[in-house]
Amino acid sequence: MAGNITLTMIKPDAVKNNHIGGILKMINEAGFRIQAMKYTRMTREVAGAFYAVHKERPFYGELVDFMSSGPIVAAVLVKDNAVEDFRKLIGATNPAEAADDTIRKMYATSIGENAVHGSDSDENAAIEAGFHFSAYERF
Ligand code: GDP
Repeated sequence: MAGNITLTMIKPDAVKNNHIGGILKMINEAGFRIQAMKYTRMTREVAGAFYAVHKERPFYGELVDFMSSGPIVAAVLVKDNAVEDFRKLIGATNPAEAADDTIRKMYATSIGENAVHGSDSDENAAIEAGFHFSAYERF
């Protein structure tokens, strides 16, 4: 059975461009409930640990630099089939390929600076939610 949580981060580009409100509105209107949320900034070390699965990929260094370049909004979202439905709402990794009415189509600028993160599996959603939040911060 599909799980019901996913972990999102509003990335530094979208925060800098004042899109926090617009992105949260799209998330709420798509039927996700916010279980946990924080405004924070990852150090290089923390961002490197979060994206450790991508360590061998050529863009890893750029990704870690970017994700630690400014504040983010991290949140745990709840909905039936959360991972798959949220991936649909955010759209393709490259905003040039993202469908209309997706968050990345509306707010992302490039394949690297693509406005939002969304977990890619139930297993990773649980790991990533635990990465950013303790049990006491989830309601
Ligand atoms: P996602 O699951 O759609 O976020 O995509 P991936 O798991 O493939 O990649 C993780 C993140 O790495 C993406 O959201 C981008 O921020 C970044 N990324 C992916 N491909 C590239 C690339 O070719 N260049 C750069 N600079 N960053 C990339």
